[in-house]
Formats: sequence, C-alpha cells, structure tokens
Amino acid sequence: MALILHVQGDRWRAVQQATLRRLPGLVPVIKGNGYGFGRQLLCGEAHRLGAPMIAVGTYMELPEALACFGGQVLVLEPYRAVLHHDLPDLRSTRVVHTVTAPDDVEDLRSVQSKARVVVEGLTSMGRFGMPLRSLAAFVTSSGAEGVTLHLPLGTGHVAEISRFVEAVPDNRRWFLSHVTASELGELTARFPDREFRPRVGTDLWLGDKGAYEVRADVLEVRALAKGERIGYRQRPQPAGHLVVVSGGTSHGVAMESPAAAATARQRAIAVAEGALEAAHRVRSPFEVSGVMPRFAEPPHMQCSLLVLPDHTTPPAVGDAVTVRMRLTTAYPDAVVLHPTK
Ligand SMILES: *Cc1c(COP(=O)(O)O)cnc(C)c1O
Repeated sequence: MALILHVQGDRWRAVQQATLRRLPGLVPVIKGNGYGFGRQLLCGEAHRLGAPMIAVGTYMELPEALACFGGQVLVLEPYRAVLHHDLPDLRSTRVVHTVTAPDDVEDLRSVQSKARVVVEGLTSMGRFGMPLRSLAAFVTSSGAEGVTLHLPLGTGHVAEISRFVEAVPDNRRWFLSHVTASELGELTARFPDREFRPRVGTDLWLGDKGAYEVRADVLEVRALAKGERIGYRQRPQPAGHLVVVSGGTSHGVAMESPAAAATARQRAIAVAEGALEAAHRVRSPFEVSGVMPRFAEPPHMQCSLLVLPDHTTPPAVGDAVTVRMRLTTAYPDAVVLHPTK
C-alpha cells in the first residue's frame, strides 16, 4: 500500500524557472517535510536552478543540506550559543548563520573565527530579531554580510522594509521573505545600490498545483448494509460501499484543516473537536468514483476507511485515486518524477 506524489517534471521545473525570473536572486527554502517532495530532492532542484545558496529552517537540517548541496547554506533559525554551540558543521564556511545578539556572534566566532553571519531585524512579525534602533551598530560590530527580515503574509511590506534599509544605510545585501515581484521592483527602484534576495519556498515548489498530484491505491472494496458497524470505533455506517485506501495519519492525511469541501459548520466542529476526531464527519480528501466520500472513522496510521454512497459505482481493488492534500503537511511514501509525455 502506498501514497505516492506524482510530479510532471518539466511542468514543475518550468514554474521554478518562472519564479526565478520573477524574483531574481531568490534563495530556495528547503525545510521541514521538503514541501512534500522531501528535502534531498529539493536540494537537487536548487542545484539544477543554479542557485548559489539555499536556506534550511533549523540546525537539525544542516548536515543533510551540506551533504546534498554544494553551495552556501543559510540557516533561518537564529544561532544561539546555549543551544547550538556543540553542533557539528559550525566550522564549515559554507554555512551562513542568522544572528540576533552580540553574545551569540562572539560564541560562534570562538568556534570558527571566520563564521559568516547575517543579522535578523525584528519586524512586525515579532518572532526573532534585533530591534531597529540597535540594528545598524550590531551589523557593523558583527561584520555581518547582510540583514535578514521575516515579514508577515500579505502586502504593505515596502514601507516596513524601507524603514530598515534607511536605518542601516551601510548594509548592501537584504534577505527578505514573502515579498511579491512588484514589491521587489519597487524596492530595487527606491534603493538601486542595494541587493534584495527573496527567500522563497511555497511559490517556488508549490506554485503550480497542476504540476503534481498525490495518488493512493484502492486496497479493499466491500458492500455495506445500513447500520453495519466497522472500524476501531465500531460506528454504524450508512448503506453503500466501504473503500479502504492507502494513506493515513503517518502520511499527513486529515492532519490539515478539514477539506475545502467541508461546510462552515463542519469546519467549526473540526476546530472544536480537533481535526482528527472531526475527520469522520467531513469529506475525506480522496477522490473516488468522481466524489469525495466521507471517512467511516478517523484515518488509521497507513490507510483510511471511506464510505461510498449507495448510488455510486465503487472502484476496483488496485485502482488509483487522487488525494487532495496540502503538501506542506504531506509525507508520501515516494515521489515519482515523470519525464515529458
Ligand atoms: C519558511 C520561511 C520562508 C519561506 O516561506 P514560504 O512561505 O514557504 O515561501 C522564508 N523565510 C523564513 C524565515 C521562513 O521561515
């Protein structure tokens, strides 16, 4: 049994190229579940794109990134002496660290005197960073090669970024997140002697939903009599067909907010009860015989039990069904990159 992510290689790579043209100098972000594709595969894609630098989310992701990508690796999580001092790879000069405090820089340089750093500014995101008023002095004292800003989703970034750029006039390179192509154009026009480098994950890897598809196998099909009890929870089912498909909690099925098909009331129930408990009340993300059937009960670890309505023709064992799931919470068993048809 398997849940497989199928990717149309050419179409997927065309979106990557288009994103790079729209956001020149972008730094591919490769973190977490690798946006569903896996981090190692994305390292290869970043290399194909000719990116000189990638960004990983945490120090835990650093060894793998250094092993599978030959260029520079920016760590988005700030370096903290108390947490990271003993980690391997701190001596690698391919690593670019994010720092937010002088003590941490001092500690880092005690391990590698040539450690490369960028300073994070505290934006309206309010997550990590050095406040604006102390930023310029810290950039100078730390010998940082750039400033990094993490901004909330949405628009209106130019005004906030401009305040930072004006407050640190000597800093040339700026790493930014969640800026649009037009915002980037505006910034470049306003500050022509600065370099703006957007960090991009979602738009780069998930920019064309038609370029990839998750598919599951039909493992079992059986007629259900009205009121028949099945599953871990022995819930009575309506008349129809039980369809068991591959794909469960270990793949991230129903770990996202309930499917878009759910009604507002169902979503409210899901929020109140937790998405997993509510999953049996909402439509599953599996597309079977042209419908999105309900779960018979919350998904199991590696498979899901679905109830197909009485009047719908069931699939056959061995058929593949499409799964509409968000890839940032997906852990497919395998990723298949298809060549051009
Ligand atoms: C995750 C992350 C990004 C990339 O975000 P996407 O929405 O996936 O493009 C950029 N910057 C930072 C600091 C991040 O943590």
